[in-house]
Amino acid sequence: MSDSARQSALAAVVAALPSLDWIKEAPKVKRLSRDFHWFSPILKQQLEDKFAELAVRPRNEAELSAIVAACAKQRLPLNIRGGGTGNYGQLIPLHGGVIVDITRLNAIVAMRDGVVKAQAGIRLADIEAQTRPLGWELRCLPSTWRLATLGGLFGGGFGGVGSINYGPLAAPGNVLSIRVMTMEEQPRIITLNAPEALLLHHAYGSNGIVLEIELALAPCHQWIEHLDTFDDFAAAMAFADAIARSPGIVKRQVAVMAAPITDYFTDLADVLTPGQHAVISVIGSENDALMPGLVAEHHGRCALRFAAGEHDGHSLIEYCWNHTTLQALKVDKTLTYLQSAFAAEHYHQQVLEMEQRLSGEVLSHIEFLRDLNGNLTCSGLPLVRYSDETRLNAIMQTFRDNGVKINNPHVCQIEAGKQGRVSAEVVAVKRAFDPHNLLNPGKLRGWDIRDTLPEVNIPGITTITT
Ligand SMILES: Cc1cc2nc3c(=O)[nH]c(=O)nc-3n(C[C@H](O)[C@H](O)[C@H](O)COP(=O)(O)OP(=O)(O)OC[C@H]3O[C@@H](n4cnc5c(N)ncnc54)[C@H](O)[C@@H]3O)c2cc1C
Repeated sequence: MSDSARQSALAAVVAALPSLDWIKEAPKVKRLSRDFHWFSPILKQQLEDKFAELAVRPRNEAELSAIVAACAKQRLPLNIRGGGTGNYGQLIPLHGGVIVDITRLNAIVAMRDGVVKAQAGIRLADIEAQTRPLGWELRCLPSTWRLATLGGLFGGGFGGVGSINYGPLAAPGNVLSIRVMTMEEQPRIITLNAPEALLLHHAYGSNGIVLEIELALAPCHQWIEHLDTFDDFAAAMAFADAIARSPGIVKRQVAVMAAPITDYFTDLADVLTPGQHAVISVIGSENDALMPGLVAEHHGRCALRFAAGEHDGHSLIEYCWNHTTLQALKVDKTLTYLQSAFAAEHYHQQVLEMEQRLSGEVLSHIEFLRDLNGNLTCSGLPLVRYSDETRLNAIMQTFRDNGVKINNPHVCQIEAGKQGRVSAEVVAVKRAFDPHNLLNPGKLRGWDIRDTLPEVNIPGITTITT
């Protein structure tokens, strides 16, 4: 499409829907086109000049449907924005077009024992505010839960706090169903149950617009947040592993940060001694009495302990997962990070080996979780003292050579990151739901080779063959 044709298409969409809440001012549209991709110096450079040309905030599903129909008619790209906290440029438009801020579609649709169904634009914190009084909480939530939306977690996220019990969001049983809008001149609305629903998970909104998500919940607990420090990295790791492994200790979060990571936690400087290794854990109050003994057994020291919600609204969760990276970047902008997945059979040994091999340049940050099969394991979000892309690639190769999987966070195409491969099923959903490739175009590499992929039939989804 030429520049002038594109400007006319944008103008036609606005003219067709004059009562909508359009955002046309370039600085505001540019801001809405951004997320936390700048954690990666590579993505920061790659995505520097990628912006939408127009943004809009639908007030309800009918307005969203009208926007979708108008953009489909004009063949304009459309990217959905939730909280904008993704960190691989998931929402950043590679080919301009319209950003749809979905945060006004934020109602709880239904709640029953252990299950919640909510609109995709709801903030995760707002879901918990409504389910906790009924005795239920989210099974896994990112450390950005105050800002992140349900649709954003589903479309761009992975899991986080709680994944020590329930695995990642994609683990069978966590997501029950979704309601999706297609990107067509006459948008259709389709309900998909798991497992088919998960074909839209972590697909960056490239193969459907998620309207509602139905999730299974966890029974809620009174949580106690702990920060314990250790002279020795191996002792910190053994302490964290003991908590993670114990079937009787109720927990929601266990993370290890190698020295000098906590030196970047400037807000906690008054309780921390420089150069210490740390474990942050969130423990059920029913088991909290066990903690002092366990800390002493591993020659640690309790630096901070408080009941969740009772520390001026602060939470130690905001020092875990990618918040560790954020806290460090506030102090040292030359740092970046990696994402790794250790092998369930020997994660402990791998973690100690990688710490020994790369410490100084790569600062170990370990998060405990269960994998898709329920095995206890660790993922890593290590901080890296960045020199250049070649060295970063060499560091990633060192991990791989030692049997540790890398989920590269310095790429913005879906298959180049965690997904790791082109999926004929994911592409088939896009063919069926977004036949003109208007949703977040450029992010799904499989689209470019769609004609070479095997034809697949997915229940509930019409596979379009051309
Ligand atoms: C400091 C920090 C810490 C983080 N910690 C974690 C963590 O612990 N665990 C984790 O998994 N992630 C983490 N992340 C990444 C991110 O915060 C989460 O994945 C979060 O859930 C994204 O939600 P969001 O609403 O901000 O999504 P957005 O950034 O708005 O969107 C993410 C992707 O989903 C798509 N999308 C959004 N809504 C819809 C919809 N309704 N339909 C279709 N597609 C949609 C967008 O187009 C985009 O591609 C972290 C990021 C930062 C910056």
